[in-house]
Amino acid sequence: MISVERLTKRYRETTAVADVSFRCEPGTVTGFLGPNGAGKSTTMRMICGLTPPTSGSATVKGVPYRRIGNPGRHVGVLLDAAAQHGGRTGRETLSLTAQILGVEGTKVGEVLDLVGLPPKAARRRVGGYSLGMRQRLGIAQALLGDPSVLILDEPANGLDPEGIFLMRTLLRDFADRGGTVLLSSHLLREVEAVADRFVVIAGGRIAAQGTKSELLHAP
Ligand code: ADP
Ligand code: ADP
Repeated sequence: MISVERLTKRYRETTAVADVSFRCEPGTVTGFLGPNGAGKSTTMRMICGLTPPTSGSATVKGVPYRRIGNPGRHVGVLLDAAAQHGGRTGRETLSLTAQILGVEGTKVGEVLDLVGLPPKAARRRVGGYSLGMRQRLGIAQALLGDPSVLILDEPANGLDPEGIFLMRTLLRDFADRGGTVLLSSHLLREVEAVADRFVVIAGGRIAAQGTKSELLHAP
């Protein structure tokens, strides 16, 4: 459901992403692994249509990146905290996202529950949130449109162990119900328990990809 074909992104002096190809199938969680600066965010931004590739292409559910910039409901995205204004409460943030997506406001309570943000926290301003709470809110925003594809860039960053456990359960359920997940991290331990497949990127290039056993038994 996500197809990445020879994606390349060059900046003035850096090649951020070079000739990257992979696929993410429905019903699976793909762990996108690599150290900081490896090219994960740039790849995900290109998949979502937020950064134009130098060459190559990406499609989500068959729709090319150019059309996804405004992702629509079927693609839930967590890229950074840009879509959260510090002056709004968590609940107001979600209500606004719901409005933009054309989703019933009643869905807001549902996703707050899913990510474990208690009503009391949801009434506080996002400006006072910890990084972990902003990540929970970001995951809630990504889930609001009832998506079939989730693209999450380092969602475990700043999350406490309970939050990481919750996210794992949530993503596993999502994939088991047929959803497609692309989940990045710079830490293997954050994704190994939930990912079915791994794509490893280093220096902008694919270093390895496959299931855990395929990677362990690679020549
Ligand atoms: P990751 O998400 O794996 O940490 P990034 O995709 O953010 O990696 O970055 C990959 C490389 O591209 C890094 O060297 C980064 O500094 C560079 N880079 C990312 N965005 C830009 C940009 N807008 N202009 C120039 N270089 C960039
Ligand atoms: P992340 O850690 O999520 O990969 P960064 O903090 O590296 O994100 O980047 C934040 C923003 O700055 C992004 O929009 C990215 O494209 C841009 N950026 C990253 N590295 C550079 C760079 N070397 N030069 C210019 N812009 C950059």
